[in-house]
Amino acid sequence: MAISKETEILAPLIAKFLENRKDERPECSGYISASQVGKCPRALAFILFGEKEVYSLDVKKIFDTGHAFHGKIEKYLNGLREMGDITIEAMEDRKYDEKLKITGKCDSVIKINATGERYLIELKSIKDAGYEWLKEPKPEHVGQAHVYMQMFDVRKALIVYENKDTQKMKEFLVNWDPKVLDEIRKKLKKVFKKVAQKKLPAKPYVETDWQCRYCSFKKYCWAKDVGEGAMSIFDTDDRKGDTLDVNDGR
Ligand code: SF4
Repeated sequence: MAISKETEILAPLIAKFLENRKDERPECSGYISASQVGKCPRALAFILFGEKEVYSLDVKKIFDTGHAFHGKIEKYLNGLREMGDITIEAMEDRKYDEKLKITGKCDSVIKINATGERYLIELKSIKDAGYEWLKEPKPEHVGQAHVYMQMFDVRKALIVYENKDTQKMKEFLVNWDPKVLDEIRKKLKKVFKKVAQKKLPAKPYVETDWQCRYCSFKKYCWAKDVGEGAMSIFDTDDRKGDTLDVNDGR
């Protein structure tokens, strides 16, 4: 008899733990998080309507891996601070933009002591395949960095990607460009307008697009229409009866 065999003793226990874990962020309620500004406008409307994002167990584990990466870099930054190379001005600090209804907790704001240059640090972990092709930061991360740069009054950002397989890192310098924030403002303005009318923006993708496949609102978004062009997505007692026009904007 073999002394080893593949089994599943711990995995179901971890799955139970993750299923029961509350992953909602009450401090973000009513706000769009800076990390979400690159999302589909319709997904942003779901967020503002208070709909809960539905994450699979695997996605929850991916988030935890990302948090572990953040913890590691924080340790390095603290080490650099102790060595006198950098000053840490912010770390995991949350801010709110009441006008834009955006909240954000930046990874870090540092100053390089030798040059006096200040940088917003944005950390991302990425799969090996994506890492190899990465020649510039992803637009949604540039947008997110601009929201933080505005909130923390910094004009340069370093977006740092770590390869999940090899732990190699690539960093990109992003200089402040007011046009990036203007685009985000325009997009959010349209979303807020729809939400004020209790309407959802039109679906910008087809169901098979990758954006939809990985979207945490897919379940609601592509649910069958109920009634005449309206869909009840709210089933909790306090919101029962609210409807959203799913055909809007088509
Ligand atoms: S499922 Fe697709 S269309 Fe619907 S909110 Fe998500 S990304 Fe947008």
